[in-house]
Amino acid sequence: MRRLLKVSESLLVKAYSIPHTFNVDELIEDYMHVLNAIFDDLWSSITWKRQAKRLIPLLKKDNDFRKSLRVKYLSGWTYSKHYIDSAIRQAYSVLESWRKRYMHGRAGRNKPRLKRKFVRVKETLYTYRNGVIRISIKPYEESAVIDLRKTWCWDKIKDLELGELILKQDRLVVTVKKKVRLEIKDPVAWDMNLLTLDGYDGEKNHSIGLKEIYTIHRAYELKRRVVQKLPEKTRKKLLKKYSSRERNRVDDVLHKIAKQLSDRTNVFEDLKNFKERVARTRSRSMNRQNSKHDYIKLQKYVEYKSAWNGYATIYVRAEGTSKTCSRCGYYNKDLRGAVFKCPKCGLIIDRQENASINIWNSFLKMWGFVGSPRKEQSPMKPPMNPEEAKGDEAQELSKTIHIHT
Ligand SMILES: [Zn+2]
Repeated sequence: MRRLLKVSESLLVKAYSIPHTFNVDELIEDYMHVLNAIFDDLWSSITWKRQAKRLIPLLKKDNDFRKSLRVKYLSGWTYSKHYIDSAIRQAYSVLESWRKRYMHGRAGRNKPRLKRKFVRVKETLYTYRNGVIRISIKPYEESAVIDLRKTWCWDKIKDLELGELILKQDRLVVTVKKKVRLEIKDPVAWDMNLLTLDGYDGEKNHSIGLKEIYTIHRAYELKRRVVQKLPEKTRKKLLKKYSSRERNRVDDVLHKIAKQLSDRTNVFEDLKNFKERVARTRSRSMNRQNSKHDYIKLQKYVEYKSAWNGYATIYVRAEGTSKTCSRCGYYNKDLRGAVFKCPKCGLIIDRQENASINIWNSFLKMWGFVGSPRKEQSPMKPPMNPEEAKGDEAQELSKTIHIHT
């Protein structure tokens, strides 16, 4: 369980969005102008290397080059100097993420566009004392001041260290950092189905309704069907609007559920490869696809929110959890319907309950407990075996930023 170890050492970041009224339009405009220019410079400095059958982009990153950019863009820059460093950093990070997408075949060879207007305010560009943030705009001349004690999120952030700020025209996004040590507490194993999330904690069953999500997906499916007859341009526009609204509404519900689960340890099936699997199999119904995507999202939200509260989220391998008998282990491959009947040991149980018990059992096996999954027989001390390493999600986790508005 290196994953757990890594997570427990990691730093979580959260962001809060605070409305502001000071006028930073000019700074943002000028910053975007410089950012775009730097980005063009970086783009034209890329060399393309032929490797196997494709072209690999090599970014120019050496210090001399960076320094020359800095000097070039500092001339005529009247704002604080560190904004230029911010812009250089931001340009590189956009380019790096484009490169990553390109390498995975998810982006083409044309230059990505910088769409959103905002300024990254590094730690060197502001001071933070007694709840007051003072952002340097022009050295010795102009600064923007925000008193966090008067904002809605003060109680949530007052004890935490601040990280980078993101300055937008009407809002300031404040990131806070928190070091967490994760523990396993009151674990529940969850199986997600179309209409319910079914859990088992070693003693009793839990159930959380998902009908709201199902209804949202249904409603948008019908809307999409209606616009199919419209001319292409209108249709595309509407479909785009629908899909973002559908996503937002589902996300809201998922966040609420995740919050409900975040005061303890949750055990899920590891569905990491599911996304690709779902994408490949066109035959699966829309409902099932949505359900899998939602499940993967929910896992991420729960993992993040629980980690913030100090609880680890555990993933177990997903194989035949719904078709295996949770009492004797018999694999019932011809299973149909809502009730699980085991031809070997005679167990008759709700299919979804059976699945959640199986996930629970895999969780116990993972810690070296085989047999009766009762709570008192299973002290929750993970062996922390680094051999079972699987570490990269932990880093992903620490990068995840949820913006609270
Ligand atoms: Zn059985």
